[in-house]
Amino acid sequence: MATTQTPHSRAAQLREILNRANHDYYVLSQPTLSDAEYDNLLQELHSLEQQNPDLKTPDSPTLRVGAPPSDQFEPVFHPVPMLSLSNVTNEETFNAWYQRALDYLEIESADLTLELKIDGLAVAITYTNGILTQAATRGDGTQGENITDNIRTINAVPLTLIGDDIPGTIELRGEVFYPISAFDRLNEEREAAGLPQYVNPRNSASGSLRQLDSTETAKRPLDMFFYSVGYAENGEIPNSQYETLQSLKRWGCKTNDWARRVQTPEQALEAIQSVAEIRPTLDFGIDGVVVKIDDITLQDRLGAVGRDPRWATAYKFPAEQAITNLLEIRTNVGRTGAINPYAVLEPVVVGGVTVSQATLHNEEDINRKDIRAGDRVIVQRAGDVIPQVVGPAPDNQRPPDSQPYRIAPNCPACEEPVVRDEDMADIRCVNSTCPAQFERLLEHFASRPALDIEGLGEKLSKELARQNLVSNIADIYTLRDRMDDLLAMERMGEKRAQNLIDAIEQSKSQPLPRLIFGLGIIGIGSEIADTLSREFRNLPNLLAADEEQLTAIEGIGPILARSIHEWANHEPNIALANRLIELGVNTEDDSPEPAADHPIKGLTFVITGKLETFSRTEAANAVKALGAKATGSVSKNTDYLVAGADAGSKLDRANRLNVPVLNEDQFKQILQGQIPDLAETTEQEPAQLL
Ligand code: NAD
Repeated sequence: MATTQTPHSRAAQLREILNRANHDYYVLSQPTLSDAEYDNLLQELHSLEQQNPDLKTPDSPTLRVGAPPSDQFEPVFHPVPMLSLSNVTNEETFNAWYQRALDYLEIESADLTLELKIDGLAVAITYTNGILTQAATRGDGTQGENITDNIRTINAVPLTLIGDDIPGTIELRGEVFYPISAFDRLNEEREAAGLPQYVNPRNSASGSLRQLDSTETAKRPLDMFFYSVGYAENGEIPNSQYETLQSLKRWGCKTNDWARRVQTPEQALEAIQSVAEIRPTLDFGIDGVVVKIDDITLQDRLGAVGRDPRWATAYKFPAEQAITNLLEIRTNVGRTGAINPYAVLEPVVVGGVTVSQATLHNEEDINRKDIRAGDRVIVQRAGDVIPQVVGPAPDNQRPPDSQPYRIAPNCPACEEPVVRDEDMADIRCVNSTCPAQFERLLEHFASRPALDIEGLGEKLSKELARQNLVSNIADIYTLRDRMDDLLAMERMGEKRAQNLIDAIEQSKSQPLPRLIFGLGIIGIGSEIADTLSREFRNLPNLLAADEEQLTAIEGIGPILARSIHEWANHEPNIALANRLIELGVNTEDDSPEPAADHPIKGLTFVITGKLETFSRTEAANAVKALGAKATGSVSKNTDYLVAGADAGSKLDRANRLNVPVLNEDQFKQILQGQIPDLAETTEQEPAQLL
């Protein structure tokens, strides 16, 4: 705490920082503080409030769970609040928590159920007569966001429960998470597209689940573990947490198998210690073990204090950190020319993995954290994935001549001067013939989400470029005429060479979006490539577009429009596009052509309920193909709600907001370009007649 501040002003400052961090973390899914920084500041505010109770304000982050739900989604009220968890970090504080619970209940011992603390986001899913009817985020604990359509896209979530002992209404809770392996792939693709990487799997899970368009959520490989019952009506539920997990499993809900029940705090601590060994092998992030008093009657008697239940606590693992020497700060050159600094470390084990390199983000971040070559530094594995340098270690002794870090003025690969790019806050090499960029571009062009050329990976891309067999990406399509050169390469037998040539030939007929993505234009990921392909229909049209035409497209802002326009007007790129066409590479979009001036172009649709002749995804694709938008929730900006059978709350909301509602026949008419007469409403829209 800064010594010049009064407790009053420090508490106000902490409230402001923490409330802002909560918004960034929960609402925007883009944390601006590390979890450890956040936890320390929250702890500081807790202590200040304990010492000076008059500093407690009703909006204090110490009293609140999460953040209020976003108004982009319909609100859902939680009949039983969704709480947070108190934390313990060592044996002493854990034993104190257990003893407090026993003292409160005036009993001698209580069984405990232990579960891995999955690092995702909590959801509550309601099943009515065994059928999934509603799903919500935790929000601020009392009110969450309606994400029913999005939850339905997750394979681990049963749409119908199995068994004959399921209460009439039951709300199940659990954690939605982004598998680590899928997260790594996502970031690789984003890096390849020159887009900023996601910070950690937790925030990607939150961002993916809170998409307004559920077809977007369906594209993300989200997963879920169920862990409790929020409430139940018309039926019995087990009176033990451990048995609840068994029931959940029987009903068809995915649960985590590590969970166990123990009799004593010693057994609990032993089990918690053992998690360190399995942690590196898990495909999901965990940040501790949740310990719950097993007996649910005892849980009810214990209740909650503030935002934390007394009957459970999170045994949080210490952040996986280690101290080592930072030997050198080096840079590499990305495909888009970005110069990325990284730390070369004296190898050190962090959380069971040996780390010898760590990312350093950018020059500004390095200097903000005051990291210099030669320092002793703290290294951390953030979200269990990317090793980072946190900052100098407390025992760091810096030589007097040590200097703040500056990225060298010349590219480490081609030695041309680098340029500071203000828009993208990056330092990049803009030499289009820089060999480091070309090697990575070639690898990207051949990668699975791009042209998918089997056999042309990182190593071969490098060799082909370094031996000058290929000096621009179109050259790979002429390799078949240079078989002798290819065969002269190391480890290149006839079979391998032929397979490679065949794969290259096949790639000529890949759909246009893959080619657009493969060209490596800064900021174009697979989804934008899809949109551009659909919108411009062929490569020459896309390359001829001006910035105004580009920004008119949904999802393309001025920075991206400029990036595309600049690429398309760079002489070597024009030559490249022409050569690809000459060589027979497919440059035409093959998706159905949208009618030129379809009446629904630019309108916004929401699709709900069961349609007979379309799935909801098909219906959404049908409107998108005609230039309209399909979103996940009804608002005053919705032009039409398409309501199939059993449409629920969206229909009510559309009626309240006077959004026109279409039945399936009327929807089909609209797709055919006829505007139906909405006065002829069907039974499905009673509220409209009011
Ligand atoms: P929490 O994550 O410490 O604990 C409560 C949550 O644990 C539950 O809501 C549930 O989602 C989850 N959980 C996972 N497995 C569970 C299981 N088996 N049983 C029950 N619950 C389980 O508390 P919180 O209120 O969700 O978040 C607070 C934490 O979030 C902080 O400690 C901090 O690390 C992080 N945070 C970070 C920032 C930041 O800016 N970096 C901002 C806000 C919060």
